[in-house]
Amino acid sequence: MDENSCNTPRRQFLKGLGAAGMATLAAPTLASTSTGEKWDESYDIVIVGSGFAGLAAAVEAKRQGAAKVAIIEKMPFFGGNSAINGGLYAAPITPLQKKEGVTDSPDIMVADQLKSGRGVADETLLRHVAENAMEGLQLCMDAGAEFHPYLQQLGGHSVPRTYQTTVSCGAGITQPLYKECKKRGVSLANRTKLIKFIHDDSGRVAGIEVATGYYYQRDKAEGKPKTIRAKKGLIIATGGFSQNVMLRMAQDPTLTPEVGSTNAAGATGEALLMMLRLGAIPVHMAHIQTGPWASPDEGGFGYVSNYSIYNFPHSVAIERKSGRRFMNEIADRKTRADAELKNRDDQGNPDPPILITSYKHGIAHPSAKKVLKYGVGWKYDTLESLADEYKIPLDPLKKQLDEYNEYVKTGEDKQFGKSMDKAKGKYMEPPYIVVRLWPKVHYCQGGVMINKSAQVLDSVTAQPIPGLYAAGEVTGGVHGVSRLGSCSIPECIVMGMTASRHITGKA
Ligand code: ADP
Repeated sequence: MDENSCNTPRRQFLKGLGAAGMATLAAPTLASTSTGEKWDESYDIVIVGSGFAGLAAAVEAKRQGAAKVAIIEKMPFFGGNSAINGGLYAAPITPLQKKEGVTDSPDIMVADQLKSGRGVADETLLRHVAENAMEGLQLCMDAGAEFHPYLQQLGGHSVPRTYQTTVSCGAGITQPLYKECKKRGVSLANRTKLIKFIHDDSGRVAGIEVATGYYYQRDKAEGKPKTIRAKKGLIIATGGFSQNVMLRMAQDPTLTPEVGSTNAAGATGEALLMMLRLGAIPVHMAHIQTGPWASPDEGGFGYVSNYSIYNFPHSVAIERKSGRRFMNEIADRKTRADAELKNRDDQGNPDPPILITSYKHGIAHPSAKKVLKYGVGWKYDTLESLADEYKIPLDPLKKQLDEYNEYVKTGEDKQFGKSMDKAKGKYMEPPYIVVRLWPKVHYCQGGVMINKSAQVLDSVTAQPIPGLYAAGEVTGGVHGVSRLGSCSIPECIVMGMTASRHITGKA
């Protein structure tokens, strides 16, 4: 976990891109029966994957009195893709909402998510997560996670309800949870990869076989295979499949290897495929989300994503050809990503739009200095120099900014109906910061179907597969067509906790 900082996994991710792009995954074997099996290790609860969902499940299992709990992780570092995400956590009815005078409720949060999910999200699961999101946030805080003392209003959210870690990335949660796991005596094994489910004669998933001494880059295990018994339950928390180009292209052929991804290298989805072989129900596999806040000028999630997520409410996104805004800067992710992808030159090649922010407001976010330092964002003293650099027609651009400043004054965006609450008093004035925008593959809304207790459902019987639970991005259908930003962490934490509570009989 020492390696688990915001930057180290990202370096690993960059190094791992080649291997992931080639998708050299060994085919998983079918489950075998445990009759006569002598287990190498035995635990009450075994968790596969060490992102938000896996770590929260382990902490909660211990809090609920499980004696022996283990996490296995195939990568050399713990924290998964979670450690390099934005560390943004949405919850209704929180202390910060009280402090900032925001009226909110689980109903309002669920309504926002259903709208973004375009009619196919799972209302029951969304409601369960919203109702327990504050408790999940508290679990993170109790473990030592620290958050900025203000709320953000992200795209598609009707009110400010998003906390962000002070380090502005997910490691601000995974590291404290990891330490909490160690403190509570959870067994943690890295370079250990799930390769097979083992079930008993009744059909219950009784444990797993793992490869030890696993080296991701070479897709090779140097240690001996091991069998691990999961006496009370097995929780699969192995994340999404954004880095498995073959699998994501099978769902959406436009997501070719050239389309960047914000995800860690290990997000390759083989445990999801193993669960499908076992009989789990695939849901919404083709709904793969691209992040509209990403930059084409850096790899992965980078610095710009966090910077622009914070700044969108008081910035303008401009199409270079016309010098005009082309979207509501805080619409849901799919709406914005689709709008950005329409920015093309005359030959149809990508012509990334730009996000313009007044320097004095943009610089307030901790990522802003890095954006400027590492040359993925730029400062301009005048609108003239900015227009000149990006070959934007100056007069329409000037007119656009004047119009926008009028919306700031009146609190009403006549062009796109953007909520101007967080833009109050924040006029567009020089000097400016500019970043370029182009969507990257970010999140798989698809995965296996679970019920409200995080049990994986069988495609033939529609009943829970005995002994098998799943939580986090490996599950599907929760968010529908488009997940709202900052709603993944609460889902992972709450559903990880839910799985452990159900297994320990505390649900
Ligand atoms: P979530 O956000 O849903 O909690 P993450 O993507 O953050 O998920 O974490 C999932 C973790 O699971 C990653 O660290 C990944 O390396 C690990 N993982 C994925 N597949 C396997 C596997 N077959 N065996 C062990 N660990 C796995």
